[in-house]
Amino acid sequence: MFWDQQCETLDRDTLERLQLHRLQETVRRVAAHVPFYREKFAELGLQPDDLRSLADLRRLPFTTTADLRANYPTGLLAVPYDATLRLHTSSGTTGKPKALFFSRQDVDNAAELCARSFVMAGITPKDVFQNMMTYGMFTGALVTHYGAEKIGCLVIPAGPGNSERQLLLMRDFRTTFIHLTPSYGLYLATFLEKHNVDPRRDLALRKAFVGAEPYTEETRRKIEEGMGVDVYNSYGLSEMNGPGVAFECEHKHGMHLWEDHFLIEIIDPQTAEPVADGQPGELVMTTLTREAMPLLRYRTRDITSLIPEPCRCGRTHRRLNRITGRSDDMLIVRGVNIFPQQIERILMAEMRVGRNYLILLNGLDEMTVKVELAEAGFDGQVEHLMKFQSQLAEKLRAEILIKPKVQFLPPGSLPITEGKAQRVFDERKM
Ligand SMILES: [Zn+2]
Repeated sequence: MFWDQQCETLDRDTLERLQLHRLQETVRRVAAHVPFYREKFAELGLQPDDLRSLADLRRLPFTTTADLRANYPTGLLAVPYDATLRLHTSSGTTGKPKALFFSRQDVDNAAELCARSFVMAGITPKDVFQNMMTYGMFTGALVTHYGAEKIGCLVIPAGPGNSERQLLLMRDFRTTFIHLTPSYGLYLATFLEKHNVDPRRDLALRKAFVGAEPYTEETRRKIEEGMGVDVYNSYGLSEMNGPGVAFECEHKHGMHLWEDHFLIEIIDPQTAEPVADGQPGELVMTTLTREAMPLLRYRTRDITSLIPEPCRCGRTHRRLNRITGRSDDMLIVRGVNIFPQQIERILMAEMRVGRNYLILLNGLDEMTVKVELAEAGFDGQVEHLMKFQSQLAEKLRAEILIKPKVQFLPPGSLPITEGKAQRVFDERKM
């Protein structure tokens, strides 16, 4: 199903011509109206007309979170203050928020892309949408709210939490799809179970859109089983409209990123050089249609990779793999870039390994992975354990290119932290 079949299936040449045209317009507009960019262009000796191909994108300056804060509150506006229609701020940060302005056209485009994304996942005007995201300054709820209304769905602006009321609403109004965070999805699945609600029997739920926090395939399966829904992975960030930047189609193999509105690059977060197609790196995005606050080469700090091959659904917009972490988490060990998530993936795929682990780096650039064994992980034979230890070290080497020391611990021996666990201890920084 398509919302805008023509845009969604543009051939790559036409799409790239459109991107270049929109990029040139964006660059001209920021050069004319945003002093921050005008100064950056002057430093680089760059004229807006120098931009002749998409490859010239690399000549443009990056924009960082720090730039957004430094230009708070209105420094990055490309339209007069009274031409703005809505203010959002970014979520979950301390200190000054990032102020993000939308014009009327930006608000429309954001809803349009959400409508496109929902329809791609099979939503129709007959569907009933219970939105369990936080309403307010955060983009997560409002943008999807307007997207679903655009399709013609009944929208229930429930917001998060208050699970008894969520259940009442889902039951009485025959909710068919929900939008929520992975952690709330897991909670709600447990809540239904505790209240003897069998969602397949008692509710009309069909689909769930899960986003706003990174989560794993295992979590997706748990929500699907517990809530009796088909879970779709989505990606968005407030700096780029909020939700509706990239969504999964029915094939659920990567998220189509709407390239007629955003230009994407994947770079090595250390060197800022592009990585080869399909390789992991930091997602960098340039807005192509934003009026109020266009951003050039915004460093999202999210780590992902591109799937360059065409998708079976017929859409030509390239797909992003699941976000695996933040570039801030990256470790450099003996010159190799390593993400703790790579190590986690290898460990958690092992039956004999428990849930808790630590990564230690010493002053000699040596890595030790301390990992708890599962309850049934040790059969009493020391030589079996030693064999497993060297196999695991070898599997880790294949993934992260350096061979760590692997140390097994009895189940429950590593500390459990509430909230975000600290798993990396870097003595090189101590
Ligand atoms: Zn597809």
